[in-house]
Amino acid sequence: MNHYFTFDRINNEKILSFYSRKPIDFGGAALEPEGRKKLIESIEADFGYKFRAVKQCTKQVHGDRVVIVDEQNLNEETGPADGLLTDLKGVALEIHTADCQSVFLYDPVRNVVGNVHSGWKGTVQKIAPKAAQIMIDHYGSRPQDIEIYINPSILQCCFEIEEDVVTQFAGIVDVSKYCRKDRIVDGRQKYFMDTTAVNRDLLAELGIPKENIFLSGVCTMCGHKEYHSYRGDHHVTGRNGSMICLK
Ligand SMILES: [Zn+2]
Repeated sequence: MNHYFTFDRINNEKILSFYSRKPIDFGGAALEPEGRKKLIESIEADFGYKFRAVKQCTKQVHGDRVVIVDEQNLNEETGPADGLLTDLKGVALEIHTADCQSVFLYDPVRNVVGNVHSGWKGTVQKIAPKAAQIMIDHYGSRPQDIEIYINPSILQCCFEIEEDVVTQFAGIVDVSKYCRKDRIVDGRQKYFMDTTAVNRDLLAELGIPKENIFLSGVCTMCGHKEYHSYRGDHHVTGRNGSMICLK
C-alpha cells in the first residue's frame, strides 16, 4: 500500500479513498483504454475491492463545474468539469492532479462523497465550497456533518506566484492572511500563497467545522520523488490519481 497516500478516517468498511504515489501514473499509458483497464485492476487488487464504476471528468479544465453522478448519467460523459459528487455505492470518483489540490468531501450521515480538482484557478472560482453547497442543496447535507480532506498538493513552501495571481486571490480573500512576501530575489518580490488554507477557510465559512477539515500537510513539489509534481518535475510529469468511493 506504499503506492498510496491515504487518510485513515476514510478507509474503512464504509469508504475507500486514496491519492496515488509514483510510479503509479494516471497520465501516459493510462490515457489509453488498455493501460487504464490495467491500472484500475491493479488498484482493485491492492484494495481488495471491485468498483461498480469509476467516474472521471471527460476533461478537467480548471473551472468550477461540479457534476452530480446518478443512475441516469452514470455511463455518460461528464463533459468539461472539475468536480464530481455521488451517493451511489461502488462508484469511485476520480480526479487527476500534479501539484493542484484534489479535495475529498464526505458526508457520513447522508452518505455522499465528492472529489474536486482545485488548482489556483479552481480555488479562486471556489469550486470546493461550491461542491459543498451542492451537497447541502441537493443531498440535504448539514454543514456540520460534512468532512473535508485535502490531499497532497503544492504547499506554501513552494507555491511561488506572480503578482497577477495574487490579485486574483485578492478578489476572494484577504491575501495578507495567506500570502508570504518575505523573499526578494534579484530585486523582484516573490509571493508564496497558502492555497490549502484558502480552501479550508472558504469551506469553514459555509459552517463546516474546522475540526472536520483535514489537510495532508504533504507538499508534492518538496516530495516530487514520491509524487508527480508539475513544478518539481519541470513540467514534464505524469498525474497523481485520487479516488473516493462509498462501499
Ligand atoms: Zn514544498
